[in-house]
Parts: sequence; structure tokens; C-alpha cells
Amino acid sequence: METKLFKINSIYENPDELEQAAQILARGGLVAFPTETVYGLGANGLNADAVRAIYQAKGRPSDNPLILHICDLEMLPQLAREVPEAAVKLAMAFWPGPLTMVLPKTDQVPDVVSGGLDTVAIRFPSHLIARELIRRSQKPIAAPSANLSGSPSPTTAQHCIDDLMGRVDAIVDGGSCGVGLESTVVSLAGEIPMVLRPGGVTVEQLREVLGEVRVDPAVTHPMAQGQKAASPGMKYKHYAPKAKVILVEADQDAFCQYVNANKKPGVFALCFSEDVPDLQVPVVCYGGQTHPEQQAHALFDALRRLDQEKAELVYAHCPSQQGVGLAVYNRLLRAAAFDLVEL
Ligand code: AMP
Ligand code: MG
Repeated sequence: METKLFKINSIYENPDELEQAAQILARGGLVAFPTETVYGLGANGLNADAVRAIYQAKGRPSDNPLILHICDLEMLPQLAREVPEAAVKLAMAFWPGPLTMVLPKTDQVPDVVSGGLDTVAIRFPSHLIARELIRRSQKPIAAPSANLSGSPSPTTAQHCIDDLMGRVDAIVDGGSCGVGLESTVVSLAGEIPMVLRPGGVTVEQLREVLGEVRVDPAVTHPMAQGQKAASPGMKYKHYAPKAKVILVEADQDAFCQYVNANKKPGVFALCFSEDVPDLQVPVVCYGGQTHPEQQAHALFDALRRLDQEKAELVYAHCPSQQGVGLAVYNRLLRAAAFDLVEL
């Protein structure tokens, strides 16, 4: 199919392009668009056929449910059967923003959206282009990351073009994404709020608002064979470049010595800026060691660059797990298929 490209500098400068993209969504088409987390591949979330087309374009397993994106709180009762007090508190604190809440779903939400679960994931993004597209289409928009399933998530329009050109109706280029990692997913469908995926809103921030918040063990550990995933997305290999990635937990000296000792053609380091002078292999840098927000912003582009450079084996310097660092660590662990070396 022919993929239209819309370059949107702002919602005020390019209303016509926004309207065209919104009409494609309203008519059941697929549109990739920027959000503050990563680029999303959107479709009308109440149209089961349109949602099925998302799975097809991405090659996404059908039991991996999608997030519905809304542009005001009035869209919530149509989608969520119950909105517990904790959800209201989180909405007041973090919406619009990079937080997704899992809530009991209404019958209006098609089963293809929820992967057959009785719950639905909902987010109110802060990105103005995303919100304006949703508002103009007048639909909740189902939107997973706009990449081919398994590859690093897209944080620029070019990443979407690389993965989805010819597979979707349109790509909206609105610049690079601020956070750079997917939203925090928290389930409020059980007794105690449970983080299913870490992201831009940190566990520490959630605890400040709600008190007790648990973190699903699958965030930092591989799941046992046959174990049921609270968040189906977490059981799949994810975010992976073509190269084999090994995550190395070590201080700067030990990391650089270890990588240099393993130097050979095809070996790359995915490292912090501080490591660069001490490394004797080609490097791709993903921010400063003590700057998790920088790391989050740079990580997916860095993983894609390793593919372009034809890296075969990548030693990745392990980030701290504090704050947004937990989300960076979670994505890198999956990119490395849990291959972690502790020095
Ligand atoms: P993505 O669309 O790539 O950002 O992934 C969406 C994430 O949200 C996946 O990890 C899903 O497993 C998770 N998710 C979506 N809906 C639900 C739900 N109803 N219950 C639990 N996790 C969900
Ligand atoms: Mg994804």
C-alpha cells in the first residue's frame, strides 16, 4: 500500500495535514504518530477490523494487548467499567503523561484490543500532536509502538519509515520523542497497584501518590516456563537489535577492561559517554552514566544504530535501576534476552 507522509511542525501550523491523518484514523486506517514516549501505530480502538490491521502490520502476537489512547477524561467511562479511587489519584497526578492504567473493561472495548482479557490499558498522552489527532478523529486510539514486533521501538519518524513504509496508511513526522521509552504500565485491577512495565513515571513517583505499589517480578527477572504473564507483552523477546547483546554490570574501569579483553571484529560497546575514552572497540553511546533520562531518550536509537553499523556482539554497560533507570534496565535486559554478566 502507499504510505502518506505528513510533516507536522505544530498543531497550529499544519491543521490540514492533522485533519487528513485524523480522517484516515476515523475511517479505519493505520497512522503512525509521535507521542512523548515513542511513536505509536494508531487505529480506531473501537473498530475490531482496524485493530486487527495493527497486529498484521506489526507482526504482533495476537495475545499481546494494546493501549487505548484518550484525549480527555470524558472518554474514560465508555472504556473502563470501574474507575477506582487510586486511578483518579494517578490521573490527577500524571495525566496527561507517560502513564498507562490497566482497569476493568466495558463491553464496548473489542476483545482484539484487550487480547481477550477482562481489562483494558488506557493512557492520556501529553504530546500535542497525539492529542489533537485523537480529538479530531473523535475515537479512542489503540496504539502500540510503531515498529515491527520485536525490533527496538521507534523514537523518530525515520524509525517508523524504516519499519512500516508500505505497511500503513500514513506516518506523521512530528520530530523526536521526549521520553524515548514506552509508558509506565500500572494495573489497578487487583487489590494492590502493580507495575507491569516501568517507564517515564517512576515507581518512586507512584508510591508518593498511592503508598503501597508493587513491581511485578517479570520487570527484572525472566519468567519461568509456562508461567502466566500479568502483562502479556513481557513474555516476548523485545527491543532487540540483530546483534547478540550482553549486559555487563560493572564500574567504568571493570567494564572497559572486560570489553577490551574481548575485542575482535564485530564487537561493539553500548556505553556511557564517560566510558568512551577508555574503550578500544567501536562504540555507540547512550548518554551519561548518572543521567537516566538521557539514557531513556537515546537507547532505542542507539540499538538501531548498532544494526546499521553491522554489530555482531554488543557489550552494553548496565544502567542503575533508580528512577527512570529501572525502565532503561528493563528494556536492555530484554534486548539482551536476560544475558547479564556481573563483574
Ligand atoms: P506497547 O503497545 O508496545 O507499548 O505494549 C503495551 C503493553 O501494555 C504490553 O506490554 C501489554 O502487555 C501491556 N498491556 C496492554 N493491555 C494490558 C492489559 N489489559 N493487562 C495487562 N497488560 C496490558
Ligand atoms: Mg512495543
